[in-house]
This record gives sequence, C-alpha cells and structure tokens, in this order.
Amino acid sequence: MFTVGTQLEGALGRTGTISTPHGDIRTPAFIPVGTRATVKAVLPESMADLGAQALLANAYHLYLQPGADIIDEAGGLGAFMNWRGPTFTDSGGFQVLSLGAGFQKTLSMAGAGAGVEADDVIAPGKERLATVDDDGVTFKSHVDGSMHRFTPEVSMQIQHQLGADIMFAFDELTTLMNTRAYQEESLARTQAWAERCVVEHERLTAERVGKPRQALFGVVQGAQHEDLRRHAARSLAALDFDGFGVGGAIEKERLGDIVRWVNSELPPGKPRHLLGIGEPDDLFTAVENGCDTFDCVSPSRVARSSRVYAMSGRYNLNVAASRRDFGPIDPECDCYTCAHYSKAYLHHLFKTNEFISATLATIHNERFTVRLVDRMRDAIDDGSFADLKADVLARFYSQ
Ligand SMILES: [Zn+2]
Repeated sequence: MFTVGTQLEGALGRTGTISTPHGDIRTPAFIPVGTRATVKAVLPESMADLGAQALLANAYHLYLQPGADIIDEAGGLGAFMNWRGPTFTDSGGFQVLSLGAGFQKTLSMAGAGAGVEADDVIAPGKERLATVDDDGVTFKSHVDGSMHRFTPEVSMQIQHQLGADIMFAFDELTTLMNTRAYQEESLARTQAWAERCVVEHERLTAERVGKPRQALFGVVQGAQHEDLRRHAARSLAALDFDGFGVGGAIEKERLGDIVRWVNSELPPGKPRHLLGIGEPDDLFTAVENGCDTFDCVSPSRVARSSRVYAMSGRYNLNVAASRRDFGPIDPECDCYTCAHYSKAYLHHLFKTNEFISATLATIHNERFTVRLVDRMRDAIDDGSFADLKADVLARFYSQ
C-alpha cells in the first residue's frame, strides 16, 4: 500500500504514496481531524478544496454517538459524512486512557513535572474515568456517565464498522510521569494487544466479505526511553501490520530523538503516522526523521478561539490591532478566507460570536498546516528541505 519516492539525503525523511480503496495520499501529508465525523464548522467539500487528502475521525466518540453500527449501515465513515477521499480512525485508546490520567499530548519539561515519577497520576480536580487491566480498559462515558469496556477485539470491531481506510491497533497510553517499571509492563500489554488486534482484524476482514480492504497500523509506545521505543518498534515490525503509528506522550524537546529511534527500526517500505502533532517546528522535525503522515486537532481548535497561523507566527484576531486591518490573515496564504475576507471582518465576527468566524478561521488554519507539509514534500523532491526548514522556522518563531 506504500511506495517510497525521494529519500531526504542524510536523514530518514522521504516522500511517498499511500494507496487506499478511496484514493492515494501523497506523503508527507497532514491529515486534519474530524473527531465526530466532521471538522468542526467546515464542510467536507471545503476540506477537499483546501487540499486535505484524508481526514481522521475518532473511534471512541463515534462509538458513543451515533454508534458504530449506524455508520456501518450508512456505508462507512466516508459515505456517512460525504467525504470521498481516504479516512483514518484512531483506536479510541488515547481518549479512553486520557480519561484515566487527564494529561495533554505534548508536555513541556516544566509542565511534565520533570524528575517526578508516579504510576497513579491524575490531573488535579479530575475524576478518574478509566481503569486498565491486562485484557482491556473499562471506562465511564464522558457523555452520560454510562460504563463501557474496550478490548483489542472491541476496538477492531468498532473500527471495522466505522470502515476507515486506515485504522490503528488498540494500545495503552502511558504518561511521562509513569515509572520505568510501569512503562515496561505497559509495553508488554500493548504488544499482546497488538497481536490480538492483528488476529481479530484478519477474522473480521474474512467475515465482512465485499467491504473495501482496511489497513491496520500498529502503535509504537515506550515513552521517552530509547531501548523501550526501539524494542517496541522491532516487536511490532514482526507482526503483519500495513503501517505504524508513533504514539504516547512526547516531550517536545525529545520528539526528534524518539521518532528517529522508532523509524530506524521500522521497515522503510511501510508508512509511519505520528499521532497528534501539528505545530510547524514539530512537523519539520518529524518529517526530517521519517514520519509520513500527521494528524492534529490544533488548527481547528485554536481557530475557534480566534487564534490563527501566519508565516510570520501565530496571533490572535480578537485584539484591537485587527479592528481596522483590512488585509488578509496572512498575505502569503492562498486559502479561500484570505482571498475574500479581511482581518477586520474576522475580528468583528469573533467579537460578535458569529458562527462563520469559526468556519473562516478554521479553513485558514487547516490550509496553512496542510500546505506547509505539502511544501515539505516538494522540498524533499527538489532538494531544498533544509532551506525551507531554516526559512520557515526563522520567520514563524521570530516574534
Ligand atoms: Zn488563509
């Protein structure tokens, strides 16, 4: 399903093409997130127009509402949401296990409480909503408080009903605060769950005759430990996965090391997805070190609170400086919003809480991120990746 194109000289980065039943994805590629089968405030047609090649939805949320069986009856995720291109679903493990710990995807060294290790971590003021055992995870719905249980088999059954082209094995997510001993125990559990996912995936593929072939990616955990990350990658590479995800909480400062360790061990002929990364510096680091696809909810989430990306850096539209600025969000952007609407108009829409403020800002932020990764792909092809990286990062972080 994956063809490698141009190799980045002296590094693990590369271009390539992922082939799916719903079309090809040229990589590296940013995959926007439509958690509940919608990128909030934006039509799927607009997502296609702004260059999104694929969308990623969330198995946990869709399992709770509307229910995976309903999406199956609709003909799968893409048909249900009128998205014709490739789709991804994550396994639900991240959301389910986040209920247990309540932490963020990437943590700064300070935020992580450097040097503090504990295995029973829960964010202040949060109720524990999930518990892990060797067979799976029991959790309480954040919607209505009802109790549910995910096992590797259940996650595969849900993801087969959702019908995305690419889905992920059910894994245990740990935090950076967990002890080394717990990370080892958890990794063994994730490996056992990966083996069960492969078996159940094969069973379901054989049972569900006539459905488009779904690809299954194994997820590499191992936190910040080099030996654990390498061991996890090698162990998963021995299983019959179509590709791999790099998961877990990752300190920003260690991102490059971690993806390099993992991608050095994974077979080069299979695609690698980095889960939950979308900031420009992180994307350059990950592309350079051999990741092919990325997803992140940030571009749309921050857009809804009036924060936008520009080549000169991130800023907030909801400040007085935008009130009489009749230029676009970013003069270098080619999105629909920047072609037709001014910062002054967007400022007004945010001030008055108008719905299309979210629509217009999200279109811009998603286009910014999709296009940035597209430019990285072109730069690998024409040998200018290092120049592009230096130029973009110097300007974006100059503020
Ligand atoms: Zn724009």
